[in-house]
Amino acid sequence: MILETPTFRVHRIQTGAVRVHPQQVEGSKFNRSIWILTSRKWTEWLPINTYLIEHPKGLVLFDTGEDPSVNEPDFYPWWAPQYRKMCQFKIRESESVTEGILRLGFSPDDVRYVILSHLHSDHVGGIARLTKSEFVISEREWADGQRFGATFMHGYQKHRFYNPDYKYQIIHHEKMNQAGAFINGYDLIGDGSLVIVPTPGHTFGHQSLLVNGRQPVCLAGDAIYTQSQFKREVADGVADDKKAAVTTMNQLREWSKRNGGAPILSTHDPDAGVLLSRRNGMI
Ligand SMILES: [Zn+2]
Repeated sequence: MILETPTFRVHRIQTGAVRVHPQQVEGSKFNRSIWILTSRKWTEWLPINTYLIEHPKGLVLFDTGEDPSVNEPDFYPWWAPQYRKMCQFKIRESESVTEGILRLGFSPDDVRYVILSHLHSDHVGGIARLTKSEFVISEREWADGQRFGATFMHGYQKHRFYNPDYKYQIIHHEKMNQAGAFINGYDLIGDGSLVIVPTPGHTFGHQSLLVNGRQPVCLAGDAIYTQSQFKREVADGVADDKKAAVTTMNQLREWSKRNGGAPILSTHDPDAGVLLSRRNGMI
């Protein structure tokens, strides 16, 4: 419960753009390995968003985006050629997450927490630049990222998010003492202002952040891709659990309704910037 409703400033930091096959956004009745190998169509360029929250207890970053090093020819290991078939990136050196933080007038070393929605590479790309922060990940996502075959089947590249020197906080979403669209969650600060909730589907351990300021907003990672996909409630084409993805979308919609139509801001939604600026970034 929040005793005093705070106000936060939330900034969107875009770390370049990505385009994928339309089947990835819109879903497909075919097995993903079929369209990944055969599709020649691409979506428009979609943003790779991260979000920085100015919280009284310190700076909190949601996801770290992609990194400019993705442009290097040997970025992907030789034994994982499927990534080049799945997505194309457009990102300049100046578009790393830490450059974005600096442009906003903050030091990357002052980011206290980095909440990771999941461990796909375009969400963990900036981790190596944020070694002073504590990375917050769900226990299920962490376990899945360690599994043998995680790279081929689930899009994880362990060498990009794991280093024994990184500080990880592996969290369990507990039952919360409040009625709401989400039964389980993890109260990061302990005052109800930043509640991490499980939003499985895209990956089994995917999580989102409810920023409970005066005008709440949900930072949803890849739980949704675009507003139109969200409206139509179709699971994305690479979702590990399509049924769970649709249930998650229902919960997000319910949460939004209970919070006066609060926006659901995702990583790749071209409308996310407009939805946030309508609130002047003040949450
Ligand atoms: Zn993803």
